[in-house]
Amino acid sequence: MNWIQKKLQSFVEKAKNTFKRQRPSKDDQEKSLWINCPGCKNMQLKENLSKNFNICKCNFHFDLDPKIKFEKLLFDNEEWEYIPCPSWSDPDPLNFTVNGKKFIDKYKNYQKKTGQESALLIGHGKIGGLNAVAVGYNFSFGGAAFSQRENEHFLAGVQFALDNKVDLFVSIYQSGGKSVFGNLNSLKSMSTVQMAHTMLKKKNIVNCGILESKITGGTFVDVFGNDFIFSIKGSTDQLFSGKRVSESVRSSDSAQMPEDFGGSSFLERSGMCDGIIESRLKMKEKIVTLTKVLLKKPVAQAKNESNVSVSQPISSAS
Ligand SMILES: [Zn+2]
Repeated sequence: MNWIQKKLQSFVEKAKNTFKRQRPSKDDQEKSLWINCPGCKNMQLKENLSKNFNICKCNFHFDLDPKIKFEKLLFDNEEWEYIPCPSWSDPDPLNFTVNGKKFIDKYKNYQKKTGQESALLIGHGKIGGLNAVAVGYNFSFGGAAFSQRENEHFLAGVQFALDNKVDLFVSIYQSGGKSVFGNLNSLKSMSTVQMAHTMLKKKNIVNCGILESKITGGTFVDVFGNDFIFSIKGSTDQLFSGKRVSESVRSSDSAQMPEDFGGSSFLERSGMCDGIIESRLKMKEKIVTLTKVLLKKPVAQAKNESNVSVSQPISSAS
């Protein structure tokens, strides 16, 4: 190595260290009052975003705590009751270790961070006057990975819906898939979730799925147990596997993968969802209207019940 190469190498190392130092940590990002919007690439004040349910002016949807979705966007008069996770459920019966850390310890950290028993928040109450059970996936809970515990919590929600013969069972999806790190039993939920949806349908309970960004793997399969599925406009990463993996298993490489692969427009175009909802503020209106049509109930009052005031400040938005 001559002196020019040495100088160049030293310059590159210095530049790398400088950029490494300047890159904010995850903690710094969480503490910051500002956040960069991936949609419009502009910095946004978190306080302003929270007033609009974490939706940017460009309609990019940041993650939102399912508790806020339940209280402010879904259940009538902010009234709903929690359906608990069965206490006998063990999230880690096989005592798994991930990268030197016990999975059970990671799971307990997620519980502490979110205040939830599992990655799912499940509640019942009235939605547009309809008796309903709602399931909200909390992505802050380890990417809402679906383990054995989430499966049992989900089934507890289904059991409540069957026992009380509610009108509507709605799921708001956002999950990285089945948690094989938790234990392999989580994979069995791919069949039990489908069977649960079938049982709900046999009782004439309408199943509705709302898709937000980041629904992959086995959870993406769960989505198709619903009677109708709507994707929030501009959502991405709604797919079983990523673009590169999907591309590699194609029998023919004559056509390129579409640019919007896994996005809401791709899902609608390919028939994988029934339509696109402009924003999460509109989901209640869509769900209530369709369910009332299916159950042959008067729909006139649905619109009035689903109006949302976007100027309402939310202090605890994530
Ligand atoms: Zn934006």
